[in-house]
Amino acid sequence: MSERLTIALAGNPNSGKTTVFNALTGARQHVGNYPGITVERKEGTARSGDADLHVVDLPGTYSLTAYSQEELVARHVLIEEKPDAAINVVNAGVLERNLYLTVQLLEIGVPLVVSLNMMDEAKRQGLSINAKRLAELLGAPVVETVARTGRGVPELAAAAAQLGRERKGELQPLLISYGPDLDQAIADMAAVLDASPAATAGYAPRWLAIKHLEGDAEIIDALRSRDAETAARLEALSAKVADHCHKTLGTYPEAIIADYRYGFIASILKQDVVQLNRIDRVALSDRIDTVLTHALLGPLIMLGVLYGIYQFTFIVGDIPMTWMGDFFEWLGGVAGDALPDGDLKSLIVSGVIDGVGGVLGFVPLIVIIFLIIAFLEDSGYMARIAYMLDRLFRMFGLHGCSVMPFIVSGGIAGGCAVPGVMAARTLRSRRERLATILTAPFMTCGAKLPVFLMLTAIFFPDNEAQAMFIVTLTAWAVALLVAKGLRSTIISGPSTPFVMELPPYRLPTLRGMCIHAWERTWQFIKRATTVVLPISILLWAAMTYPGLPEEEAALYETRREEIRAAFQPAAEAVAEAEEQAAARPVAELEDEAAEALDEALAVVDAEEAMAALKNSAAGRFGVALEGVSSLAGYEWRTNIALAAGFAAKEVFVATLGTAYSLGETDPEESAPLIERLKSDPDWTMAKGVSLILFMMLYAPCFMTVFTIRQESGSWGWAVFSMVFNTGLAFALAVAAFQILR
Ligand code: GDP
Ligand code: MG
Repeated sequence: MSERLTIALAGNPNSGKTTVFNALTGARQHVGNYPGITVERKEGTARSGDADLHVVDLPGTYSLTAYSQEELVARHVLIEEKPDAAINVVNAGVLERNLYLTVQLLEIGVPLVVSLNMMDEAKRQGLSINAKRLAELLGAPVVETVARTGRGVPELAAAAAQLGRERKGELQPLLISYGPDLDQAIADMAAVLDASPAATAGYAPRWLAIKHLEGDAEIIDALRSRDAETAARLEALSAKVADHCHKTLGTYPEAIIADYRYGFIASILKQDVVQLNRIDRVALSDRIDTVLTHALLGPLIMLGVLYGIYQFTFIVGDIPMTWMGDFFEWLGGVAGDALPDGDLKSLIVSGVIDGVGGVLGFVPLIVIIFLIIAFLEDSGYMARIAYMLDRLFRMFGLHGCSVMPFIVSGGIAGGCAVPGVMAARTLRSRRERLATILTAPFMTCGAKLPVFLMLTAIFFPDNEAQAMFIVTLTAWAVALLVAKGLRSTIISGPSTPFVMELPPYRLPTLRGMCIHAWERTWQFIKRATTVVLPISILLWAAMTYPGLPEEEAALYETRREEIRAAFQPAAEAVAEAEEQAAARPVAELEDEAAEALDEALAVVDAEEAMAALKNSAAGRFGVALEGVSSLAGYEWRTNIALAAGFAAKEVFVATLGTAYSLGETDPEESAPLIERLKSDPDWTMAKGVSLILFMMLYAPCFMTVFTIRQESGSWGWAVFSMVFNTGLAFALAVAAFQILR
């Protein structure tokens, strides 16, 4: 029995579409009009094997945005009539321009066969096109044709019939990244649309969102009439991102979308597909890219840039960092003087100021890093980094699309694994996506940043930039090795081809960089108050209560009394000296005696504070872990901080700040945490290296774990990431500690 399949024919004007249509259908044609408009509707039938093809010739268009009636008709047929497959006729001689429509067809997701037409002309121009490679990169079959002579047309019909049979018109939209700003806006808008079936009316939410951002009048009007409330929310989101793009990049979403589509095409053509003449800005970008993405020079420059980032950050950030340290020290002193002794003072000074202040103290360094990252992103260099890493990534069983999740997670420093893990959605292969999701959290996210900055300041005060550079490279190396391990064992499978968007270079504006850097810094500051502060207060409580049992507290009180009593004779000696009017002035002797008494009492106070901390809920927990953790060099206070870091990694710094502050007798005169740890004999270099490794690799914070569960679809992988990462982190930390000790 023969099967009937509907095939739509799309292409730019003059690509040879009508010629292909004629070659396919011969005399079996019917010409009519689309209802109510003058656009011609041509249909015909063809046979391929045992399939009957019903072919619809769409009007020739350059795009699928509603700029003209032709474009509207073309997309209505594709989306509403749901052909089983579509043939996209492209002129091989001007591939770059023609692929712009191809990309939009793929974005709709209709099963697509590309007819690489006018191959005879292209050959005459000296172009050689690798159709097989093009098909791999587009993810769609490509058939070379010469429609005028009919060459390749039977193969084209067969390919369309096969695809139509396999996919039956089922949409598989191509997901293109449009850069961090637009991707976020598209995701937000798609989420709004998702909630209103009335508004989407069967169209894909993401596609509608993109069209909305492109200012597609037809879509915007249709949404308004279908669901006014949803339309209003979308328009607000769209206006917001348009304003943001205008302020930061001086351009409009529509232009950015076009840029990224051309970037997508340019990078396809670059991968040994074809050589072309390009337009100006793209040509200049190409010339820059011959150096910046050069096979050998490119990676060297990339490493140089990375190293330069840290060098610059520490040189410029040194002075404001001292100011921040001084400020929080002063604040602690003021609060200590103003508040009466007791739990409230302890909470404010040790819990809040020494805890949260420790995290906020890193703001100057973080602002500088974020400014540089904004420069790399806005200029287009970040996309090149991803492009270069693609080759490396594939060697380790990852995918070019894994690079962005890594960078978003903090590949250079200061990202977040939550959006990083979500960014892995662009990967089509589930196995490659899983490998990416499980390894991206090893990167140096914004929360680990203050931890590493603190640890390098303590252990490598003279080589902070070098240390941060090595930390970053180590994180990448471990992530890649773990990925390789996972991809060769529990999630093994073939790798899929990859296309990367390379938008043309752009000179970033200072204003744009400042806005981008400020957005991230504000995120960091907000986290310090909304996430770190409440956790710090909880931990302060866990480190304060239940305190010392009464008998033990009484013991310390007795010791203090004994000391005071022992100083009594000294006071008598002072009185004697007064009578004798000896050589030394009386006041001096009095001072000396008082000072000695204070010192002796302070020793007892310190011992008591330490005993109380050790006896607190958190203290007991930390001490209990010491049996195991001492293998890696961690004593009980570090254990508390590491456990607390699971809530949010920067809490590690806050918790240590509180723990060391509570153990101190005189909070008003306390030194910054870094100074305290530097002079603590427990904090050796071996412990430092072991801690850096552990912090880099152990269980992702709980928000990330939750996101892994969402994105992988099972708690299994989320639990795996906690158990496996912590196991790996501990093994490496122990090894480092035992070797360096
Ligand atoms: P349409 O605008 O997409 O309908 O394109 P047409 O089918 O009208 O073709 C435009 C011109 O290109 C016509 O002169 C065709 O003869 C010519 N043409 C179509 N296919 C080929 C081909 O494969 N090779 C060459 N050399 N010319 C072709
Ligand atoms: Mg025509």
